[in-house]
Amino acid sequence: MTIRAVRGVHDILPGEGEKWRRVERIARDVFDSYGYEEIRLPIFERTELFARTIGEATDIVQKEMYTFQDRGGDSVTLRPEATAGLLRAYIEHGLFVHPKPIKLYTMGPMFRYERPQAGRYRQFHQLDVEALGDEHASLDAEMIAMLVEFFRRLDLAQRLQVEINSLGDEKPECRPRYRTELVRYLRANADRLCEECRERIERNPLRVLDCKKPECRRVLDRAPALGDFLCADCAAHFGKTREYLEATGVPHVVSPRLVRGLDYYMRTTFELTTTELGAQNAVAGGGRYDGLIKLLGGPPDPGIGFAVGVERVVQLLPDEGPEAWEGRRVGVFLIPLGEEPLKRLLPIANQLRSKGLVVEVGHGERKLGRELERANKLPQAKRLGVLQAVILGPDELARGEAIVRELKSGTQRTVPLSGLVDELLALGGRA
Ligand code: ATP
Ligand code: MG
Repeated sequence: MTIRAVRGVHDILPGEGEKWRRVERIARDVFDSYGYEEIRLPIFERTELFARTIGEATDIVQKEMYTFQDRGGDSVTLRPEATAGLLRAYIEHGLFVHPKPIKLYTMGPMFRYERPQAGRYRQFHQLDVEALGDEHASLDAEMIAMLVEFFRRLDLAQRLQVEINSLGDEKPECRPRYRTELVRYLRANADRLCEECRERIERNPLRVLDCKKPECRRVLDRAPALGDFLCADCAAHFGKTREYLEATGVPHVVSPRLVRGLDYYMRTTFELTTTELGAQNAVAGGGRYDGLIKLLGGPPDPGIGFAVGVERVVQLLPDEGPEAWEGRRVGVFLIPLGEEPLKRLLPIANQLRSKGLVVEVGHGERKLGRELERANKLPQAKRLGVLQAVILGPDELARGEAIVRELKSGTQRTVPLSGLVDELLALGGRA
């Protein structure tokens, strides 16, 4: 029996790779332009790191983590998200001594034991961005604007909606007062909620607001709104964030019942959603988590961040990327007919590649007809459109010439070997 991939885990096949590269390249471009630096983190950490940051009562920690004992008996977990590891690194390496905010981003696979379905996988990928050590509302707005700019560069911004909300903070007159009200309301309407929601009322009541089931939505849409309970500081912070968003020209809507799946969020939270992906409608989400760094044993630095779900972004992208193969434009297929022509073409192939052309070399033992047939099926022929074939047989070699043939039209001409590289470069390689 053949062995298949693990359920909920996917290969990203060659044809899809281009979109992934585009997403990652534009992410780096945009994040760099806002002064963020890349940090690369391990994909597994001590289990307790996630338990402490994400929260014991969350779905992630309760039932979604890939946790195992390593051979030394330590409990380790494949990261379900990147913020925890990033904050660990921030504290461990004393990054907080630099002028704040410290702006960092990372990208890579995350692991959650969820029920696999369209847009929901057990290994998936995130772009993760965090700004640490600054609590000003202008940072919240800048971060949301940057996220929108990333989607604008991908030509997706007009298909997404920015939803924002404030979760308040843990001062008694703020979220705790709301939580009491919410629990009272949920208990009174418990019989109209799904089993999962009923179970959450005591354990994690805010999370109930996130339930997508229609029967629950009917109850939850009438629940008290956190926005009406914010303390003066949190209300001011939220108001400022919105003012700066408006000043930057970022359209957004306030979603009074937007909450997030992780315990540590407070004040500003946001999500980018689309109507095009069915139930899995969030392509990115984030928020502020002042207090979390201190909880992890670091300085009392505030923080804010977001994560983009790359699979869902890739799903939204149209098939043809404008910048196929990262700016390489011309494909060349060098077809030697025999051993000596092959040796003559090998250094030429490298010269052309170093100038940005995509070059394939035959091994000299196939018939010309077979090679030409193969040429049209090469991935570079499909992606770059134009492919030039260079045919070099013993006779041409003896005359110091090669035949250059444009595959699509079939037109061909003879070019002196000494001028071959320049001739092909003139067709459009990078200088
Ligand atoms: P959701 O409500 O869709 O479960 P979440 O609140 O669990 O999302 P976050 O932990 O904030 O999501 O992760 C940020 C983004 O990562 C999400 O908006 C989504 O695009 C993506 N994401 C989360 N879980 C998965 C998954 N299992 N498979 C694919 N993408 C995911
Ligand atoms: Mg989730």
